[in-house]
Amino acid sequence: MNPACPNLSCTSFNKTFNTRKDGFFKRADDSRDIQRYYCRNCRKRFSKSTHCLEYMQKKRRVNTPLLKLLCSKVSIRRSAMLLGISKNTVLAKTIFLSKKATIEHEKFLAMMQTPVKHMQFDDLVTKEQTKLKPLSITIAVDVKTRAILAMQVSQIGAFGHLAKKAVAKYGTRRNNHFKKAKNMFADISSSINENVLIETDEHKRYPDIIKANFPNAIHKTYKGEKACVVGQGELKQNSNDPLFAINHTCAMLRDNIGRLVRRSWGLSQKGYMLQHHLNLFKYFYNQIYLGL
Ligand SMILES: [Zn+2]
Repeated sequence: MNPACPNLSCTSFNKTFNTRKDGFFKRADDSRDIQRYYCRNCRKRFSKSTHCLEYMQKKRRVNTPLLKLLCSKVSIRRSAMLLGISKNTVLAKTIFLSKKATIEHEKFLAMMQTPVKHMQFDDLVTKEQTKLKPLSITIAVDVKTRAILAMQVSQIGAFGHLAKKAVAKYGTRRNNHFKKAKNMFADISSSINENVLIETDEHKRYPDIIKANFPNAIHKTYKGEKACVVGQGELKQNSNDPLFAINHTCAMLRDNIGRLVRRSWGLSQKGYMLQHHLNLFKYFYNQIYLGL
């Protein structure tokens, strides 16, 4: 069947009966023959790629290599250099890949055969621009499959010896951790079993977050342990770490996303770009790395 007319001002918009095939054109970007269509009603032409998310892109050949580079510790500027594109193209493509990955992740959650019965979650602290502007990434994993169920960036205030300096330099920083974490769990709640077992560390806000989204869940907490030398401060010295699934996922994030690596030149300039980067890593990790 021919696709529907995409012209909003056409009376046959979104209807297929007035469209017919109208030859091919060779797409310059990847040298593929693309089927073109014609609407008899509005006399406009469109093609098979008009409905794609990649529509009008000039460098679609770099999309897949860029996804792999960005999920393999390569920085924004170095990926641009390796692929022969500009830094701004990498940033624009990160947002595009994030949208595509989000659609794929939603499909992945919808396709899960049984709702998650055993989940662990934790927060990974990072920063935007400076250590005086910390960010928190809430990460939830399915212990059985090791799949990342959700990741959400939220803003938190500077803490410890930097707290006073941060307020003096940038003013009071809004803390939206509770709200963002609550909304994140609300988004994935349809894929979680009502009586899910949730394991976390002893963070004081976690019981409230769990109660708000999963009132019938069983919540188990474990005391924080000393980190081992490898594992970027996320893996623990205890060989029988009860929170191994989430700690290992955090270590994977630290080691696979250039901007999260500790003691390196890479860092996030904007929190929302970090969120886009995490969205595409979530897809890469679950569906390419783990092959779920
Ligand atoms: Zn039309």
